[in-house]
Amino acid sequence: MLITTNKEIQRKIDSAVAGLNSRIQELEKQANQIQAILNSMIEGVIAVDRHANIISINPAIEQIFGISKKDAEGRLLLEVIKNNDIFEIASAVLSSAQTASKELDLVWPVKRIFQLNATPLFEAGAVSGCLLAIHDITEIRRLEAMRRDFVANVSHELKTPLTSISGFVETLLEGALEDKENSRHFLEIIKEHTRRLNSLINDLLELSCIESSNSGLELEEIKLSGFVDKILSAFKSQLKKKTILTENIIPQGLSVKADKNRLEQVLVNLIDNAIKFNQDKGFIKISAEDLGDKIKIIIEDSGAGIPAKDIARIFERFYRVDKARSRELGGTGLGLSIVKHIVELHAGTVGVDSVEGAGSKFWFTLPLII
Ligand code: ADP
Repeated sequence: MLITTNKEIQRKIDSAVAGLNSRIQELEKQANQIQAILNSMIEGVIAVDRHANIISINPAIEQIFGISKKDAEGRLLLEVIKNNDIFEIASAVLSSAQTASKELDLVWPVKRIFQLNATPLFEAGAVSGCLLAIHDITEIRRLEAMRRDFVANVSHELKTPLTSISGFVETLLEGALEDKENSRHFLEIIKEHTRRLNSLINDLLELSCIESSNSGLELEEIKLSGFVDKILSAFKSQLKKKTILTENIIPQGLSVKADKNRLEQVLVNLIDNAIKFNQDKGFIKISAEDLGDKIKIIIEDSGAGIPAKDIARIFERFYRVDKARSRELGGTGLGLSIVKHIVELHAGTVGVDSVEGAGSKFWFTLPLII
């Protein structure tokens, strides 16, 4: 009887041990899964206990703050991450048991903007710690600022000619219409501003079309030299007006794979600028080099060149070295950003080598295989 009872007890213990073992295995599996998730997250995660001592950090936090898990765990949050905002949020969450969030403008050890979200952790109904999640929103903020600037720039660019047009129309209506000589002059000005509005809107539409057609390229083999000759011939009268000599020294056999219309736009914009910003009796030289995996096309002019301080920004929308001069020449400030977009759609790069007063060499590359 006693033996049976002992056996029964043994069986019960065995089954309890087996149950515990499988529970431990289950918990280990869950812990491993959580660890794997934390390790692969781009968001930084910090868990602290109720005294704000670090329980755990993930690799993203190690990377952002240049710290190691080994050195951080078990130490006070503020001691490891010397950031008052993060510490204050953690303290607030620990004392209020409420979630909290804040935007962090970090300048050290990295200059980035983070969204910080903090959640209390509970154990038996009481706050036992806090979980801090840090999400990098630098790119989102940069794009928002870019969009704001763009809208402000477009509004400004549209407003200038519109103000002139309505001003001159009013002057005409108030009596200048009777003054034959002046009224003609005013109408010429209105026409010029209308033309400006038109080219601005065309360039904006073009830009938006290029931006939204990421893969809409119709690639074909283009024989470069003949293609450039054709484009140059369309500029005949402008070139003649300024007595500018052109030289196309692209090797005859050189071909590129590109979207014909888009490549034409790139060359038209660059040649148009090379004429506009050139001096009378100047020159334009167009050449191309085979760099093995890509072709580099160079448009060189003998114009005013670009000051060193402006070179880095020259391909930005609406960026102009001399706003008044560009407007006078009929520019919108969007030509080079259209060029950059198109070249990048072809997986190429653009750039300019220029010395103020000594001409410019605008270049772009097109990969041989895209
Ligand atoms: P736009 O020509 O309509 O002003 P772009 O985007 O084509 O606008 O060019 C931006 C600016 O870059 C121009 O206003 C001018 O200041 C400068 N730039 C462009 N091409 C040349 C060039 N070949 N020589 C000198 N400056 C140039």
